[in-house]
Formats: sequence, structure tokens, C-alpha cells
Amino acid sequence: GKIEFRNVSFTYDDTNINALKNVSFTIKKGDTVAILGKTGSGKSTILDLIARLYDVTDGEILVDDVPIKKLNLKNLRESIGAVPQDAFLFSDTIKENIKFGKENAAEEEVIKVAKNAVVHENIMGFSKQYETVLGERGITLSGGQKQRVSIARALLKDPEIYLFDDCLSAVDTETEEEILNNLEKASSNRTTLIVSHRVSSAKNADKVLVLEDGKILQEGTHDELNSSEGYYKELYFNQLSDKEN
Ligand code: ADP
Ligand code: MG
Repeated sequence: GKIEFRNVSFTYDDTNINALKNVSFTIKKGDTVAILGKTGSGKSTILDLIARLYDVTDGEILVDDVPIKKLNLKNLRESIGAVPQDAFLFSDTIKENIKFGKENAAEEEVIKVAKNAVVHENIMGFSKQYETVLGERGITLSGGQKQRVSIARALLKDPEIYLFDDCLSAVDTETEEEILNNLEKASSNRTTLIVSHRVSSAKNADKVLVLEDGKILQEGTHDELNSSEGYYKELYFNQLSDKEN
């Protein structure tokens, strides 16, 4: 679960966009790291490189001190629970959607992760509950419900590493906090990367990385970054005043 970036640069072949420029950081096993920054700053690219959807152009990524290229790709992917912003759900029951990735899961396990993802109450509100069919033949969930079902799916897999790519964007701040608290209790020993637009996701993280134009602009805890002038403090101030208005 330990993750290390050593002078990582990455250029997308097709567009020639240099998405990451000499990025270095270390995440201890079990730590939670929040990644913030404007659209296009390279947040998703960091997560995609950890899941090895692409290989670095320069530098090296190590997981548990082993270069990622030396790890068995299947094992690596199995140890990762990735939740994208646009959750992909099948035209199947809610239960089967959550169980995707762990087909043999017991009913109680499915309910437990749905509770931790704060979507159980919503599911129980449907007449067919966990047997409710989604998609073309069934009902359409709201964006926030989709995201929470997709989080439940990742929780059921119980991976060593969680990669949450802005997957709480359609969830209100209060529910977001509840999910993050549950996650902390249920998976405190799991390494977690949370890409977010909200400072609220970062407040309880062990470390915050602020990206700008493919580079690390700021790195530290919420308290550290909030006590010096910069992007993070400004963002915090703005989101705080949004909340009050
Ligand atoms: P963020 O997640 O912070 O919004 P991304 O990591 O998605 O940023 O993108 C970083 C840069 O790489 C952007 O300039 C984006 O346009 C570019 N980019 C992202 N994905 C691709 C891709 N699949 N192919 C080519 N360029 C990409
Ligand atoms: Mg992104």
C-alpha cells in the first residue's frame, strides 16, 4: 500500500500534452491523501498511472518499494479499488452492480458496504430494494446515487489502495463527510487517494497535494497549507464563505 512517485513525467502520446512534470511524493501505507487543483492540472493522470493505465514517460512509480513495471499487472489491479467520477453501472440489479468484482459476496456484506457508502436508505426506498433493476429496463439513479453505488462496489472489493477520482462531486457536503468518516473507520489501514474539488475532502487527509499545470504547487496537511498564503488557503476561504451564504 505504500506509493512513491520519483520524478515522474508523463506525456499523452496522442495530444503530446505534458500532463505531469517531474512529480515526486511518497504516501505511506494506510495514509489518506487528497489531491486538489484546477481542471487539467493532472489529478486524474496521477491516479491512472498508479493503476498503470499508462506507463510513465520519465521517472518511476513504486508500490511497496517495487517499481510498478515489475509488479504483475493483474495483481496490481486487483489490489486497487478505483472509483471514477462517472460511475459505470450495468443494466442489472443494484445488488449485482455492487457485487461486481466480488461475485461471491454475502448479502450482509453488500448491505454493510451500501450503508458505509450512505446509499442503503435510498435503496430501501425502492419497492424492489436491492433487486431494483437499473438502466434501460429499469430505473435511473441520480448522479449522487450512482456515485455512491460505485463507492459501495469498491468497498466490497476491500482493496489495499483506493483511488477516488472526484467521485463525490454529485454528493452533498454533509453526505460526503459521512462517507469519508465511514471509510476512515472501515478502511483505516488502506491507502486512499481522493481527487476532489472540495476542501472538505482534504480536511481530514494525512496529506494534501495541490497540483498546477502538471506540477506540485503545494504539499502538506490541511493546517499547514491553511496557515500560509496560497491556492489552498484561498480555496478554503472561498468554500467556507460559500457555505455560509
Ligand atoms: P485533471 O484530472 O486534473 O482535470 P487530467 O489528468 O485529466 O487533469 O489532465 C491533465 C492534462 O492531460 C490535460 O491537459 C488534459 O487535457 C490532458 N489529458 C487528459 N487525458 C488525456 C488523454 N486521454 N489523452 C490526451 N490528453 C489527455
Ligand atoms: Mg480529472
